[in-house]
Amino acid sequence: VKMFMEPIKRLVSFNEQFQKGMAGFQRFTELMAIKTEIKENEDAKKLENIKGNIKYSNVSFGYNHHNKVLTGINFSINAGETVAFVGPSGAGKSTLCKLLPRFYDIDKGEILIDNLNIQNLSLVSLRNNIGIVQQDIFLFNGTIKENILYGRLDATQEEIIEAAKEANAHEFIINLENGYDTNIGERGVKLSGGQKQRISIARSFLKNPPILILDEATSSLDNESERIIQKSLAKLSQDRTTLVIAHRLSTVRNADKIIVLTDKGIVEIGKHEELLDKTDGVYRKLYTKQFSLV
Ligand code: ATP
Repeated sequence: VKMFMEPIKRLVSFNEQFQKGMAGFQRFTELMAIKTEIKENEDAKKLENIKGNIKYSNVSFGYNHHNKVLTGINFSINAGETVAFVGPSGAGKSTLCKLLPRFYDIDKGEILIDNLNIQNLSLVSLRNNIGIVQQDIFLFNGTIKENILYGRLDATQEEIIEAAKEANAHEFIINLENGYDTNIGERGVKLSGGQKQRISIARSFLKNPPILILDEATSSLDNESERIIQKSLAKLSQDRTTLVIAHRLSTVRNADKIIVLTDKGIVEIGKHEELLDKTDGVYRKLYTKQFSLV
């Protein structure tokens, strides 16, 4: 009997080991499900002299292979248009915009700029054509001048000042003790939220990209700064294809197109009045909920 039991014991033990091993293996594959790095095609083309037409065709994307954030996304934007993305928090509005400069690669479908698949473009040239103005503005320790210059490294002093003027930043900058040479960031002067935003807008004016992604701030500034910033952003988006993650009524009202994104994907596309006319429309509901008290 003993002779008979030993192999079975060993087999049971092996089975236990195997199960443990499998669990480990599963964790490993889960870890490995993280996406591969963004790579450039060997024969990548330069994106140059573009008009700025954008098309998302059947685009699907997830941050990992377990859950999809976007599925079957279809829309197009004509060159020069401003499109406002609205929808509940977490629907994927920012994600959708981050796919355009290829911060992440899509799983399915195509994203085209002027009919060119972004997958076949050189990353530098693709990103040179796209300006991004964000809520959490990326300013580094350095002078104001250096921070604006980051938009286009070969710009002249005159061009920097011109960009700052367009962003309504010039006045406050020259009133600082060291003007454009004022140090900002950890070791320099503290700028207000609105001032920081204007510097980042100046940076985008200097870069002068045909395509702009605008992530509107939800945090409120005082009315005066708000008004100034809205004005410079409106000017910045002129004559550029602009994708706005919209939080403001004025933005959605003036957009050439509103795209309503929910966890079901894109549910409505149209102008403000058109979408407001839809009696059980998602936009209509969002609009009344979000803006009726504004
Ligand atoms: P909000 O209006 O709150 O900014 P949103 O519509 O822009 O929301 P996204 O920020 O695109 O939504 O997020 C979509 C989904 O993707 C959310 O479930 C979010 O948790 C998830 N997500 C966002 N960024 C990442 C990331 N870097 N890694 C993993 N998941 C992420």
